[in-house]
Amino acid sequence: EQLTEVSVPACFDYALRLFQARISDANVEVVHDPPDEGSWVRADPVRLEQVLVNLIGNALQAMADNSTPRLMLGIHHHGNEVHISVVDNGPGIDPASLARIFEPFFTTKAPGNGLGLGLSISSRIIEDLGGRLEAGNASEGGAHFLIVLPRAMPPR
Ligand code: ADP
Ligand code: MG
Repeated sequence: EQLTEVSVPACFDYALRLFQARISDANVEVVHDPPDEGSWVRADPVRLEQVLVNLIGNALQAMADNSTPRLMLGIHHHGNEVHISVVDNGPGIDPASLARIFEPFFTTKAPGNGLGLGLSISSRIIEDLGGRLEAGNASEGGAHFLIVLPRAMPPR
C-alpha cells in the first residue's frame, strides 16, 4: 500500500467520471457545496477513490426512484481534519438499518444488487488512515455520509 498526498477534489472527479453516464441519464444534479478548493489527505489514492465510488454508487442507487435526484458533495476543513461529505436526497436510512450498515454483508438490496460489503470495506479503509466514516440522515431527508481524515500538507 502506497501512501501519498492525495487531492480530495481529484478523487471526487475520478469517481464522478466513472458514474458520468448514469448521472446524466438519470438527470442527477451534482452540487459541490462549498465549491472545491485545494484539500489534501495522506492516503492510497486507489483506495480513497474506491470509498468515494462506494458512497456515490450507493447514493445513486438510493435515488433511483427520485424524479429530482440531487447529489451533494462537500469538502470542509475543521482544524487539522478534512470532512468529506456525500449527501443524497433519496429515502434515507431507517434507524434499524442505520445501526447495521457497516456490518459486512448487511444489505437491504435485492439479491444481485448489492453484496453488503461496500460500507464495511470503506470504513475499514478510512480507519486504517486514522480517520472515521459516519452515516446519518440529512435534515431534508436522504442519507448523509461523512469521511473524516487528518489533513495533509500539499505535496511540494
Ligand atoms: P450494498 O450497497 O451492497 O447494499 P453497502 O455496504 O454499500 O452494501 O450498504 C449497506 C446498506 O446501507 C445498503 O444496503 C442500504 O440499506 C444502506 N445504504 C447505504 N447507502 C445508502 C444511501 N445513500 N441511502 C440509503 N441507504 C443506504
Ligand atoms: Mg454499496
